[in-house]
Amino acid sequence: MLFFKYTVYPAISGKMCFWKKYLFAGEEDITMLTAITGINWGDEGKGRMVDLLSEDYDIVVRYQGGNNAGHTVINDKGEFILNLMPSGILRENIVNILGNGMVIDIKHLFEEMEKLRKGGIKITQDNLKISDRAIICMPYHITQDILEEERLADKKFGSTRRGIAPVYADKYYKKGIRVGELLDLDSLKNRLADILEWKDLTLNKGYGNKLLSVDEMYNHIVKYGKDIIPFICDTGLYLDKAAKKGKRIMFEAQLGALRDIDFGIYPFTSSSNTIAAYAPIGAGIPNHKLDTVIGIMKAYSTCVGEGPFTCELFGEQAHELREAGNEYGAATGRPRRVGGFDVIASRYGVRVQGADYIALTKLDVLSFLEKIPVCVAYEIDGKKIEEFPIGSRLDRAKPVYKYLDGWKHDISSCRKMSDLPKKAYEYIKFIEKKVGCTLKYISVGAKREQYITVE
Ligand code: GDP
Ligand code: MG
Repeated sequence: MLFFKYTVYPAISGKMCFWKKYLFAGEEDITMLTAITGINWGDEGKGRMVDLLSEDYDIVVRYQGGNNAGHTVINDKGEFILNLMPSGILRENIVNILGNGMVIDIKHLFEEMEKLRKGGIKITQDNLKISDRAIICMPYHITQDILEEERLADKKFGSTRRGIAPVYADKYYKKGIRVGELLDLDSLKNRLADILEWKDLTLNKGYGNKLLSVDEMYNHIVKYGKDIIPFICDTGLYLDKAAKKGKRIMFEAQLGALRDIDFGIYPFTSSSNTIAAYAPIGAGIPNHKLDTVIGIMKAYSTCVGEGPFTCELFGEQAHELREAGNEYGAATGRPRRVGGFDVIASRYGVRVQGADYIALTKLDVLSFLEKIPVCVAYEIDGKKIEEFPIGSRLDRAKPVYKYLDGWKHDISSCRKMSDLPKKAYEYIKFIEKKVGCTLKYISVGAKREQYITVE
């Protein structure tokens, strides 16, 4: 089968893609276009699962977000924190793409590439491509982000202060600078001057920030842009051709369903669509449909920043879980808020992601608990509800907790379902039934090999 997969696939023309699903029925995890997305609030372990599952893929694409992402991956090459780079960069022979749906801080990208290279990772024009349509996140976006969070003071949103909301706002205001503009610096400089004049109406006249300098911003673009230029191309065209040749493409999300700008806990969301349905758009191939969506779901809940988090635990209970799971943000180092598994939010996450399968992560973290808290319903104004609410109703929701038996046994070396203690198996089955989606992988540790395929 492997021989067939690697030799015949590239020869199959796009028109014959129809047959691919039938030829490989039962090998769902190596379908042609697969999205790996977060079911919860983010930090579910998407990077870790992309690192694991990308083995059978040719291309990995990040389709939204910026360097507010923090994906920690531990494999035979070491431990890496990826902010902008797709997690496929850690495997040889995978082409990695920063898609048009992303916002890219070119200074951060330059530094991330340097760090990866120092860690022994090869980055060339062959394994990295950057969309000419992606938007550049500029230093003044970061300034705006910080100024606004400071203005909000105790009403702050908990932004990562990486300029993400301002740069997406500018994109939709049509005042963004696209990566492809680096290829024509003269016309970019003219546009930049107009944009900065407009931006200062907010930053200078509104917030009282010092006037932006065209030269300073232009120099920033030239300094960091020159290292990016060799990687810029029409990645949509590249992916379209690749998909038609039968290449296997994986789409890597940042954050989770509950941070999606449309379906998440607005306004405490990210500023882009994190859901799988956006993947072909943010990657540059809206003319292709996903074959499979694998939802990455955590065995308990975590949330970075502000906003409603109904299942939140506090005090000693929270402290113990946070320490057990080492729940500190990869991008910011901030302690993550923690809670028990949230059936209501996760079932909603599964629905809006359109998940075909689930990879349940960090099950090993729960091994210390005698009784495991699971939020099975929300209570709003004295009424129990089972559908995820929005707005002030969500703010008023209180968790209804049920406690399941723990297993009190180290499961990090389990590699088959039959290795798991009975209570761990029961916990998994309980979750699977409640969220209504098949569990396909169980992750029991951060290292690449620490997982179980559910047979
Ligand atoms: P992402 O943003 O969704 O990629 O997730 P993060 O990397 O921000 O957070 C997940 C953290 O959990 C990382 O530090 C991973 O190394 C770690 N991790 C992933 N899967 C597991 C697991 O099954 N068990 C344990 N103990 N840690 C895991
Ligand atoms: Mg993360």
